[in-house]
Amino acid sequence: TRTYLIGGNWKSNGTIASLEKLIGEFNGAGPIPANAEVVVGVPAIHIPICLMQLRDDIEIAAQDCSLTGCGAYTGEIAASQLKDMGVTWVILGHSERREGFGMAGEDNELVAKKTKKALEEGLKVMLCIGEKKEEREAGTTMDICAAQLKAVADVLSAEDWANVSNEPVWAIGTGLTATPEMAQETHSQIRQWMSDNVSADVASAVRIQYGGSMKGANAEGLLSQADIDGGLIGGASLTLDFFKCIESVP
Ligand code: 13P
Repeated sequence: TRTYLIGGNWKSNGTIASLEKLIGEFNGAGPIPANAEVVVGVPAIHIPICLMQLRDDIEIAAQDCSLTGCGAYTGEIAASQLKDMGVTWVILGHSERREGFGMAGEDNELVAKKTKKALEEGLKVMLCIGEKKEEREAGTTMDICAAQLKAVADVLSAEDWANVSNEPVWAIGTGLTATPEMAQETHSQIRQWMSDNVSADVASAVRIQYGGSMKGANAEGLLSQADIDGGLIGGASLTLDFFKCIESVP
């Protein structure tokens, strides 16, 4: 049986004051169930504070890493530097980074190469995939997810597989959550794809998180589905509602 993976994604939010408040709230919140692993993806600049002050049973993720090692790459943070700092996880391929928010976005091949690099450096990876609204409406959800997964499968060996986070772009930050049935359908197709294209063992072991307007009020319905092994929670992870999600682990 798979351990649940509950991730938070703080994105580019927070000040020192709001961070100290949130860390205090998380540190004072209830226990983490034995069958759950909890990670928060924090802004790079806040990583050291979180490593020092956040409770030990919540691991820290970066929200990106570079394709390179250390060197003359202004503004980049290498996976090896994250590892050296004590960071254990990285979120890669988030739809906001794929989209690029006004800059060149990351394509499937770049995300795949970063995933390989991060895994080689010993980081655990939450690999985000997911379709846009028009792609769902056109019935191509699984084609999009498969293309995103295939780019990674092409560069990784089966033993190295990462955790996958299915994040329909239309559900992110919109308050529109996939229904549990809708999410389950995609998750089971993703697992089937892994079985057909990676291996049966990887397909049964891989944790497939759901991301997109997940919150305390809808977490139980999503997490009770057979192929939903966790969440990657944006807005709600900036409040104690994150712990409602954690408490909703079956
Ligand atoms: P929201 O939970 O704010 O919709 O964001 C989800 C997300 O992007 C997780 O990575």
